Amino acid sequence: MNNSETGLRQKYLEALQRLETGEARWAKLENVLRLTIGRLCLAARGRSGRLDGELRGLSDLIRRQPSADDLEARLDPLSRAIAALDQLPDTAATPSAAQGGSPAEAAASGPAPSGWAAPVRASAPEQAPSPAQASPPTQASDAPQAFAPPAESSPAPERDAHVQVAIVAMLERLASLPELRPVLAELQEQPGAALTADELAEGLERVARLIGEQRSRLHHEKLEVEDLLRQIDARLEELGTYLTGDATDQKNAQESTQQLNLLVMDEMHELNTDIQRAIDLAELRSRVRARLETITTHLQDFRAREDQRFASQTDRTGRLRVRIAELERESRNLQQSLQDEQRLAMVDALTGIGNRAAYDERIQHEFTRWSQEGGPVSILAWDIDRFKDINDAYGHRAGDKVLRVVGQHLAQHVRGTDFVARYGGDEFVMILVGTGADQALVAADKIRNGIARIGFHFRNRPVTVAASCGITTFHPEDTPDTIFDRADRALYRAKDAGRNCCVVM
Ligand code: GH3
Ligand code: MG
Repeated sequence: MNNSETGLRQKYLEALQRLETGEARWAKLENVLRLTIGRLCLAARGRSGRLDGELRGLSDLIRRQPSADDLEARLDPLSRAIAALDQLPDTAATPSAAQGGSPAEAAASGPAPSGWAAPVRASAPEQAPSPAQASPPTQASDAPQAFAPPAESSPAPERDAHVQVAIVAMLERLASLPELRPVLAELQEQPGAALTADELAEGLERVARLIGEQRSRLHHEKLEVEDLLRQIDARLEELGTYLTGDATDQKNAQESTQQLNLLVMDEMHELNTDIQRAIDLAELRSRVRARLETITTHLQDFRAREDQRFASQTDRTGRLRVRIAELERESRNLQQSLQDEQRLAMVDALTGIGNRAAYDERIQHEFTRWSQEGGPVSILAWDIDRFKDINDAYGHRAGDKVLRVVGQHLAQHVRGTDFVARYGGDEFVMILVGTGADQALVAADKIRNGIARIGFHFRNRPVTVAASCGITTFHPEDTPDTIFDRADRALYRAKDAGRNCCVVM
């Protein structure tokens, strides 16, 4: 196998490896979606026999690896069953409510949050609102983080609350998937008031459609990459055929040379015999001339064959060169699109800074480097204070703007060797390389004061946005997880201490 074929095979194998990694990511995503639908089905049961039937059907379907079309076919009957809830009296719960989730699933329950947006931390203590906030804090921070299926005897409002909590929990989980964020942001635009059955039905339908769309998009992308790989495979096979043709050609050339050799040797031998047998010079001359003519003919035949071989080889080499150029271009495109995809998967779509996946990768890298080289490294966990109040008072678009501006502010106030990412919701994380806890605290206080001075205006009113920060450094017994947990605990302490402050732990 020559160098160019080895190089191409290597590229092919690398592309295959990248496809497999991509597939694993999509499979994980699909699994999360399937789990989410299953839990949602469990949580929403008990409203009516008809809805329970639909939900059971949907649960069964997602266990069987359904196609997007299968899922879509379920949407209409599901929407009708949800819409029919409006016509039922409040006591319409059927015995099927008893088929709710397992005891483990039932572990958490509580009042529903006030809109589509779910609380990130259930245990954040109730605090008096800061004077800067326009509306009092909602009860949402007491809501459970996990969903809870309704008990058999739950009254209808409580069941509604359970269903809402399940939807909120689902949206929280889906929010970690960058592909779904724009639609989720739209869903989170819902006002803080309790949802009506119609809104609930519409929300469920949208989420189900969303999941169906994601699934068919994934399937489509997978088919595209598979098609590309098939094309590359076909090109490699073509290349193999060319190389085999080349080898056959070489063999023919060798045989042709051997044949010429034998013929010339033969003629030379005959010539030798003729010389010995020749009686006079004239006869000798004529015999030698005849032999020489025969040899010339053999040589001409040989040259004609060689010319033909050369022409066909030149032609084949030309076509091969074009094919190789095509293959290289396709391989470059594939590599580029895979790189783009990888880059996008590391960026938070809302703020433009790194996302949680980027943080996970970077902390692992910094941790490994620190294990070998040592030196101080600080981790800072940031969280915007009373952010839910901003969402509730001014809407999620205003909340999004705050997230964007704060994210950019954090990114602008670290050095090139440091790192900032949006960890999720209104929480950000920083890695300050070569910075000990004392210096990190000074830097964090500066950044925190900077955030408080940003000067947001909503509906022409100035609104102060503040953030709290938990700081920690790498300890010898640490892992990347324990480091983050400690920074998060320090952040809780900062919240407990009244917010808009930094705590080192
Ligand atoms: P605390 O001071 O204890 O942090 O109070 P908080 O109100 O900020 O509470 P928490 O951090 O738990 O609330 C985060 C909220 O962020 C919950 C969720 O509604 C909202 N949220 C999460 N992601 C987004 C988003 O992408 N856009 C907007 N606008 N809001 C989001
Ligand atoms: Mg917050």
